[in-house]
Amino acid sequence: MINLANKIIVVGGVAGGASIAARVRRLDENADIKMFEKGPNISFSNCSLPYYLGNVIEDVNDLYVISSEKFHNQNNVNVFTNCEVIDVDHKNHEILVKDFLQKKIKKYKYDYLFLSPGAYPIIPENIVGVNKSKVFTIRNVEDVKQITSYCNKKQVHNIAVIGGGYIGLETAENLKLAGYKVSLIEEQNQVLSNNIDYDFAQIVQKELLDNDVNVILNDRLQKITDEEIILSSGKQIQNDLVIMAVGIKPNTQLARKIGINLNKNGAIKVDANYETNLKDIYAVGDAIEVVNGITQEPMQLSLAWPAQIEARRAVDHIYHKDIYDHNFIGASVIHLFQQNIATVGLTECQLKNRQIDYETITVVVPYRLKIMPHSNPVDLKILFSVPEGKILGAQAIGVDAVDPLY
Ligand code: FAD
Repeated sequence: MINLANKIIVVGGVAGGASIAARVRRLDENADIKMFEKGPNISFSNCSLPYYLGNVIEDVNDLYVISSEKFHNQNNVNVFTNCEVIDVDHKNHEILVKDFLQKKIKKYKYDYLFLSPGAYPIIPENIVGVNKSKVFTIRNVEDVKQITSYCNKKQVHNIAVIGGGYIGLETAENLKLAGYKVSLIEEQNQVLSNNIDYDFAQIVQKELLDNDVNVILNDRLQKITDEEIILSSGKQIQNDLVIMAVGIKPNTQLARKIGINLNKNGAIKVDANYETNLKDIYAVGDAIEVVNGITQEPMQLSLAWPAQIEARRAVDHIYHKDIYDHNFIGASVIHLFQQNIATVGLTECQLKNRQIDYETITVVVPYRLKIMPHSNPVDLKILFSVPEGKILGAQAIGVDAVDPLY
């Protein structure tokens, strides 16, 4: 049973971490909450980072949802930035923290420890020239500041975005809006291959091409030189800057070090209450695996909203509140130039790989009554099991809002 004045320690101060700290305070006004973030800021909006590159967000300070001071004042949480948790003695319930500014190592005691250390962007080391100074990834505010500063200092005209997932697409869109010549390179035969089907991807690709993004499919980045990039097809593209958006891997360096069980992809394994195999140590966010509510398979769902839900549920567990269903189906919506793309559940490819019998229905419906002005069509596809008719997935693309269809 939880005691009054519990010592709660949170590792990571962004989507999952800040949600944990705020939830603890909501449920327990006496808890002693400490939140450690190795970067200089907490609670920034990762989701908005591409929009800073496109000048949609003009002031870099708007990327910070809340400052450490305000978070402390609102929630009575002790926030430690520039502080990395480097070790955990789980038997003695103690952590070791490296304070980068004070250049000191300190120890802190906990009753419950919550990890939300996020993920790292993948940088394929086999690409020749991948360590050049013109190659960037996008994960935090420092990354987009560095990209902007590089673009301002150098004569950048031609940018290549590698990877046609949602981060790659949002980045390509924003760099195009900022006036750059953008090539998007994707090794699969379609963009958004984890989220939408081949037929719906054609609408997305057309939107990119109509907006002058040079979309290249079925090709891989092989070499980066000072002036160009070279693809496995032999294609050479003039280039001043490369953004790698080929996926992420869970940041589980600390978890691995202290003996937390990981899955084969390196993500932290948690039980239905988000507790790891080490007692009183919980984990949430991009670093963990969750359960797919349709297939019951483990999966990684690297989005901010699940991190926040997981954070609330993990905290609720230590305060003996009801634990909800911990499965996720996974829904996402992205805006790309004039189109909105919403998706939930499994794609055709994912169903085929699991040998699940399914059928699809695709309709094009007007968003408003056809006689209304600006009544734009929405392409809607539903995937359902046969013979049960259970909905397994859905995708919608349209100029107007597509999410209300869910
Ligand atoms: P993070 O938010 O990454 O936080 C982890 C923090 O932990 C980091 O700041 C890190 O410095 C810190 N940390 C790590 N190890 C330690 C340690 N040992 N000690 C102290 N601190 C440590 N999701 C959406 O839902 N919608 C979107 O539109 C969307 N767009 C995105 C766009 C981009 C460009 C990116 C990069 C991500 C986007 N996401 C989006 C994903 C979303 O940002 C992540 O899923 C979410 O931030 C994960 O939360 P987290 O707490 O697990 O990790």
